[in-house]
Amino acid sequence: MSYTLPEFLAHAVAMEEEAAERYLELADMMEAHDNLEVAKVFRDMHRFSNLHRDSIRERIGDMVKLPAIKSWQYRWTTPPEVGDDDAFDSMMTPFNALTYARENESRAMNYYRSVAKESDDAEVKRLGAEFAEEEQEHTEALDEWLERTPPT
Ligand code: ZN
Repeated sequence: MSYTLPEFLAHAVAMEEEAAERYLELADMMEAHDNLEVAKVFRDMHRFSNLHRDSIRERIGDMVKLPAIKSWQYRWTTPPEVGDDDAFDSMMTPFNALTYARENESRAMNYYRSVAKESDDAEVKRLGAEFAEEEQEHTEALDEWLERTPPT
């Protein structure tokens, strides 16, 4: 998994965009379930993902044309037991939603860590490590919420 800088940045932008979209959906679901506290957590995460995407885009500028990447490389994974969208929506208790988000944050963290470890490019290594740390903070924030949320 040794990426060039543009390849790596393309992945990072796509991952942040995916995270932002999913967090918006999760926030809406939690509002529908009348859990405004957890909805706010997801709205904050949505904002952080957008900010991160914008700062990555700024770094890229318009000098580099980003390569196309495949959706399986950045899409969030749905829990395997979930069938269609309706089932997904109704099983999303606050605890499930937080667990789902946590799994995908930790997946992003591991992705960035392995990039930082395996890349030959010094800048990719540096950014990979920096982004992995951010994802670790997100994972830990979700862990704290999971501790306070009844497992239903
Ligand atoms: Zn994150």
